[in-house]
Amino acid sequence: MTIPQQPGPTPVTSPGGSQPASGPRDVLGAAAQPPGVGAFDEHHPPAAELVADCVHCGFCLPTCPTYLLWGEEMDSPRGRIYLMKQGLEGEPLSDSMVTHFDRCLGCMSCVTACPSGVQYDRLIEATRQQVERRHSRGPRDRALRAAIFALFPYRRRLRLLRGPLRAYQATGLPRLVRRNGLLRRLAPTLATVESLAPRLGRAARPPQRVAAVGTRRAVVGMLTGCVQGAFFPEVNAATARVLAAEGCDVVILPDRQGCCGALSVHNGREEEARRFARRMLDTFAAAGIDYFVVNAAGCGSTLKEYGDLLRDDPRYAALAADFAGKVRDLCEVLVELGPVATRHPLPVTVAYHDACHLAHAQGVRAQPRRLLRDIPGLELREIADPEICCGSAGIWNILHPGPAAELGDRKARTVLATGARLLVTANPGCLMQVAASVTRAGGDIALAHTAQVLDASIRGRGVEELLHQRTPS
Ligand code: SF4
Ligand code: SF4
Repeated sequence: MTIPQQPGPTPVTSPGGSQPASGPRDVLGAAAQPPGVGAFDEHHPPAAELVADCVHCGFCLPTCPTYLLWGEEMDSPRGRIYLMKQGLEGEPLSDSMVTHFDRCLGCMSCVTACPSGVQYDRLIEATRQQVERRHSRGPRDRALRAAIFALFPYRRRLRLLRGPLRAYQATGLPRLVRRNGLLRRLAPTLATVESLAPRLGRAARPPQRVAAVGTRRAVVGMLTGCVQGAFFPEVNAATARVLAAEGCDVVILPDRQGCCGALSVHNGREEEARRFARRMLDTFAAAGIDYFVVNAAGCGSTLKEYGDLLRDDPRYAALAADFAGKVRDLCEVLVELGPVATRHPLPVTVAYHDACHLAHAQGVRAQPRRLLRDIPGLELREIADPEICCGSAGIWNILHPGPAAELGDRKARTVLATGARLLVTANPGCLMQVAASVTRAGGDIALAHTAQVLDASIRGRGVEELLHQRTPS
């Protein structure tokens, strides 16, 4: 893979390379945008001292998926930080700037690659909030985002889609739609959503609580999640069984918990995210839990940052910081507690895919690998370029279907090159994205969440049940 190297930031250009950085100006030459300090207003702009931490070394560039795709300096972490600097110095928030910020997947690969410890995660989160407040999007983009945020953070609304989706999947239509390619040509966004939909089975309602098997070692809350809860209920069921088998009382309260706010945080919708976070705290703050366990990477990284999200809220700030300290990814808590349940053999080759918000945002890489390697008979294989995002990134693959498909195709090639029979990851978005990409590539590999593999081993279910979960037809 050839990475174009550039000595330093270049002038801001449009995706086509010709549009000037400045936004529209009125007859007096003033920037036609709301008053504020350059691109940003005074409510938590990207911090100048964090921007100044970047020494322009470029070590992050080869790990940035958008730089890999386009080789444009302004589509790299260094370029985006340069744009933030320009904005802080008085440059107005132009359409071109917003395009480069929007194109960032938020994968945080640059954060782990940066030797200077630049906190790009905090910078882009603050920038996105500014963009949502201060930039007026075009009607199509507004309508698409409105539709996504009226649906995705609401598990009950998503569940209403299950019936029609199962009926559609029971016909031969999905195969036909993908084969003739008409939908992709006429409506690429709809075609992307169609290709991502997982094959649905029956869904049982989660219980309020699941009691620990044997001696109780901890009481844990468990996130059911929106997409996870609606489309992957079997992953939640497996998570609860594994936790119970390892001596945890699992408090689920499925009717009271809502969205954790991750999608809203990652897309700059600050107030909406805070509303979701307060509700989550109201549900679990008095539940007497030792840990709050999450099996979706994007949700976990947001829940761990509740203290920051609610720092301006006098009623919730301390509660949020305390709760955030209890949040653990499933693999983290299992390694922390240590295994007590017997693992039965699972003779299968597994490729483990690092979800970006688990590996880069939470630093959880070793724990899932250790848990998988501890299963007798399981052979773990590494995927090449593990730091490069699969292109899912929350709703990025719906907002940018073409480039997301390119990243998905790269990932599918590296996954299939392992020759493994089972792909394991810990995020519903990655599962759907990689499944769709493998199908496009004509490959065939079973997919499972880490929780399902552990569950199959603990229950002695054998490997066939796992291998039954194929990519979409
Ligand atoms: S978060 Fe990912 S896409 Fe965004 S700048 Fe960093 S590496 Fe690139
Ligand atoms: S973000 Fe870090 S790795 Fe990237 S150019 Fe700046 S200092 Fe270097």
